[in-house]
Amino acid sequence: MIIADPRLIYADPRDLDTLRNALKDNDPEGKLCPILMDQIYIQKKAIELLPEIISEHTRGKKILMVSDMTPYFRGKDSLKEQIYYLLSQNFDVLWLTLDNHDHVLHAVDEESTRIQEVIRTHQADCVLGIGGGTITDLCKDASHAVDDSIPLIIVQTALSVNAFSDGISIMLKNGVKCSLPTRYPSVLVIDLDVIEQAPMERNLAGYGDVLATWTAPVDWYLSYKLGMNNTYNDPSCDILRTQNSELLEQSARLAAKDQETFELLAKVLTLSGLAMGIAGESSPSSGTEHIITHLLDMAADKQHRDVAFHGAQVSIGTIFTAIAWDILLNEFDPTSVDLEKCFPTEKKMKPMVYESFEWIKKETADECWKGYQKKLENWKSNKENFKKFLRNWDIIKTEIQNVVVSPQHLCEQMRAAGAPTHYSQMTPSIDEKTARWALRNCHLYRNRFTLSDLLFYIGWWNDDFIERLIQRASELDAGL
Ligand SMILES: [Zn+2]
Repeated sequence: MIIADPRLIYADPRDLDTLRNALKDNDPEGKLCPILMDQIYIQKKAIELLPEIISEHTRGKKILMVSDMTPYFRGKDSLKEQIYYLLSQNFDVLWLTLDNHDHVLHAVDEESTRIQEVIRTHQADCVLGIGGGTITDLCKDASHAVDDSIPLIIVQTALSVNAFSDGISIMLKNGVKCSLPTRYPSVLVIDLDVIEQAPMERNLAGYGDVLATWTAPVDWYLSYKLGMNNTYNDPSCDILRTQNSELLEQSARLAAKDQETFELLAKVLTLSGLAMGIAGESSPSSGTEHIITHLLDMAADKQHRDVAFHGAQVSIGTIFTAIAWDILLNEFDPTSVDLEKCFPTEKKMKPMVYESFEWIKKETADECWKGYQKKLENWKSNKENFKKFLRNWDIIKTEIQNVVVSPQHLCEQMRAAGAPTHYSQMTPSIDEKTARWALRNCHLYRNRFTLSDLLFYIGWWNDDFIERLIQRASELDAGL
């Protein structure tokens, strides 16, 4: 058995030099992408360091501060106003507040273009984004579009998602969520005093987002074993599992707002972003559970309702995915597979993709089919790998059993954290029909191969199987 490098399994995102050295020593094939960040701060009173941080990274005095309308506090006062006044003493600060008409900011090109225009007109020497995942994705996209050499500093206002420490922006295009390579923030600042005051449901959403650690890297490994990706790497998983396991066991302390648990959550969320960054794609932190979530978001847009917290939705998707893994690991018999039935034709799949997504928008279905077509082609070219996978199932099964958690334990810990376990508990809640649609059709969404694809190709992922997932979840007081 290979013992993982302690510098990886106990990686501290605040010490990027040690992490970089460990990654270098554990990357014999030279597969990993560099972490293009200067520094990550996770500490109390971090806000007070901002003038110094900005001076260190910026030559000029012109700062563009970008935020949305969500109020955040540090002590009794508004966080954003405190930062504005703190920086105005030394810098020329222009403050851009983004909002849209129904009060939900989306990461769309239109908003990014607005930021780009202001970066240019203000001739900003530095962009400072204050907020959550959407503000961060927009600031990454906009500053990348203008000039990557402009320092981007992000003040994370809640432990809501893992989008802060990677070089990807999740943007909404034609109603479809796309992961685009953009840029890393130069500096990430997490002030634990601010986090402590953030609404608990936001911090719990981040806890929900990293629960994907129990399904996404497994999907990624499965896909690799089937020849469906060549990006899989162990270090991306090593930096996630051990500390996430500690976090999962501390779930009850999160509910009690324990300081050290907040700090651990901040660390693992940041590591989850870094894991995606070094893999060069979102697979280490995004598998079936995220695809289900993306479908729910697409439906929300069409149904003109707000989207529930990303991480909260992800955690329910994780429960369903963990159940699906549990069923596969317990019941799959490779000798029962009829190989010829596992490789459907384009003629069969295309109408299925259009039927699933055309009600949202013709362009959405086009976009999904474009990605799905590639996946199907890739799948067909990996028939030999699939045969090998079936022959080696017992070994692969044991490897996977070591890195998944039981759905029961997952649900128990989520309840201990005070996190929702049902889609109906989301704000706004997700109705059963939409949830069933997302579960049933998630595998048809674009190019990424996940567990849901394997289960579809072996003939399992159908209406009956979805009902079984729902039933099993309901026995755990979870799911719809
Ligand atoms: Zn996520």
